[in-house]
Amino acid sequence: MFPEKNPASPAATSGGEPGDEGRGGVVEVALPVPLDRSFDYLAPEPLPAVGCRVLVPFGPRPVVGIVTAHAARSGRDGSALKAIGAVLDPAPLLAGELLASLRWAARYYQHPLGEVLHAALPVALRSPRALPAPARAALALTAAGQHALYDPARRRGTRIDRLLAALESGPIGTAGGDWGASAVRTALARGWVERVEDPPCRSLPASHGPEPNDAQQAAAEAVIGSLGRFAPFLLDGVTGSGKTEVYLRIIDACLAAGRQALVLVPEIALTPQTLRRFRARLGVEVAMLHSGLGDVERARTWLDAARGRAMVLLGTRSAILTPLARPGAIIVDEEHDASYKQQDGWRYHARDLAVVRARALSVPVVLGSATPSLESLANIAEGRYRHLRLPQRAGDARPPTVEVIDLRRQRVEHGFSVPALDAIGACLERGEQVLVFRNRRGYAPVLLCRDCGWRGQCAACERPFTLHRREGRLRCHHCGREQRAPRACPGCGSLALAPLGTGTERIEETLAARFPGVPLLRVDRDTTRGRRQRDALFESLPEDGARILVGTQMLAKGHDLPRLTLVVVVGADEGLYSVDFRALERFGQLVVQVAGRAGRADRAGTVILQTHDPAHPQLRLLLERGYAAFAARLLEERRATGLPPCTRLALLRAEARRKEDLDAFLTAAAAHGGRPGVELHGPLDAPMPLRAGVFRGQVLAESAHHASLQAFLPGWLAHLRALRGQRRVRWSVDVDPAEMY
Ligand code: ADP
Ligand code: ZN
Ligand code: ZN
Repeated sequence: MFPEKNPASPAATSGGEPGDEGRGGVVEVALPVPLDRSFDYLAPEPLPAVGCRVLVPFGPRPVVGIVTAHAARSGRDGSALKAIGAVLDPAPLLAGELLASLRWAARYYQHPLGEVLHAALPVALRSPRALPAPARAALALTAAGQHALYDPARRRGTRIDRLLAALESGPIGTAGGDWGASAVRTALARGWVERVEDPPCRSLPASHGPEPNDAQQAAAEAVIGSLGRFAPFLLDGVTGSGKTEVYLRIIDACLAAGRQALVLVPEIALTPQTLRRFRARLGVEVAMLHSGLGDVERARTWLDAARGRAMVLLGTRSAILTPLARPGAIIVDEEHDASYKQQDGWRYHARDLAVVRARALSVPVVLGSATPSLESLANIAEGRYRHLRLPQRAGDARPPTVEVIDLRRQRVEHGFSVPALDAIGACLERGEQVLVFRNRRGYAPVLLCRDCGWRGQCAACERPFTLHRREGRLRCHHCGREQRAPRACPGCGSLALAPLGTGTERIEETLAARFPGVPLLRVDRDTTRGRRQRDALFESLPEDGARILVGTQMLAKGHDLPRLTLVVVVGADEGLYSVDFRALERFGQLVVQVAGRAGRADRAGTVILQTHDPAHPQLRLLLERGYAAFAARLLEERRATGLPPCTRLALLRAEARRKEDLDAFLTAAAAHGGRPGVELHGPLDAPMPLRAGVFRGQVLAESAHHASLQAFLPGWLAHLRALRGQRRVRWSVDVDPAEMY
């Protein structure tokens, strides 16, 4: 039923052709299979180095694996072993620190090493292809060219003469120059010039940033003073306080020392704007690493980083798996962001790996946020990280004021209270921009028959369908099932079908009707399906004529919108009541981040928060005393209730088509004897016990100490793998789960 968790038994050691009779040895190879072991193969002398890719027979097809060790035994007594098919790399691709960190991560996250190494390689290097050649985009003078340049017999003043003279001071890019393509062709043909790789770190014009304020200066100096050794920092600065300026100064210091900087951002959508800013300020090429790039381009950048040619690397989560030849510093922007946690397969956390790698590389690591995670705040409290604060907005920008609207005392129309609509109207009249935030797409989360009580519901998840009115569809946001939206009630035939609740599509409709002619832009997953569409949309955001922006959390992150002065949070309540213990933390971060979009330039901002529970104690704390006080309270509560980061968790998630298979598996999983210091809780229902027709449940392993949990997990996993009936269940273990779903 679920092939990837239940592979056929390994074929590597079962029979096969005897290996070559000549001199050879045995190498251990990690393969991308869900088995917690490596495989032995015969290899010719000289043995391929640890970290090289090899092509090996495995089952019906050859598979690319990574050499992880040279086995102690020789090839002679291994006559039953198969021989490797080919060595793909002359030198190790995954070596040194990166290989060691990946081994550590495979153990920590309890994931097979072969799959971890596979995931760490750029896609283009996972198949048995040769490494992409570096782009040879520059021209250099050869020895013959030097000669020609000074040859008195050569004609002067020609295009070729200008080309040779220009190259005398060093290689230059093929683009540019007034000599023309035919002069280049002729010079190449005569052997006077040759194509070479771009010189590393081509200089571009650089600009000076604003004069740093005292807090920025102190923060940058603290990090720069730690270059060359491991030092973890939390850069805790309100939105617009100039964290990016601090990053730029740190990167600049790395470059001056001939060192690389790796910068992680949470969203692909943020990379183009960050890239432009970095490039303009630093005066060097900035290499991008994210899933939106072509495979070959990505592999080339990865290799450039490994060879120390790419000096500034900017990417999303998986960029933390980039090799660094000359590491200088690692920066994780918006470190609290949930997107740093991989949610399937090898479930690593990029922020946590950043700290692990920084330690292994002996470089400083900077975690930046306006709303730090409780994990990082706990590390501050325990003295493990240094706390750098930027308490004020940079320049003249002032913090926004927050108004709470009690929805119980207001007439509400299509999700909006009257004061909220009035405030939007006033903001538009002043010629300013408004952002309306709602974390639900579609028209309405429920379609209800007022006569018989029928609700549109996904049979496979037992949750209401969301109405997408413009498309005339009912869609399940949990499994993607959809159907036509009925005109009449399927239960009683009545036409009194009513959409309940408010999604972004309905908000768009309401505001378009209320403020006709005002340009409006909706940003959610429905309006940004393709990558092109999304890029174009975010590129145009700052200059776009839209006066009203309506969107989901996609809009909450990082975008700089200078004319934005009003933010309306339409429904704040879902975040206050959720089964997930992190929901409140996420809610607070989201409110602060959305609020941070308002009034960034010279105009003060206002945030309007609509809620049914204005007296909610943590909401009050957040609004009255700010994020730091709010987070400190949450951290106390986590300590009192024994939840992360004050304890360590590993979550076993399981699902099966038959409820009895699931129950049997989870009961046996929870019945494992455990270990001192580790408690097993469960079986528990998943927050969604049924999804896409599959039953789901969990067992939680908890310990006060990370070491006890780490000591417990391998035995538990072995126990789970050996359970009868486990093949009818799809399961995985998530170490440090970021969410309980
Ligand atoms: P953050 O990353 O904390 O959101 P940024 O670094 O993007 O903050 O800075 C926010 C705005 O303030 C930017 O427009 C930036 O150019 C400006 N800024 C940052 N530092 C200073 C400073 N020291 N003086 C004046 N303006 C600054
Ligand atoms: Zn009905
Ligand atoms: Zn569904």
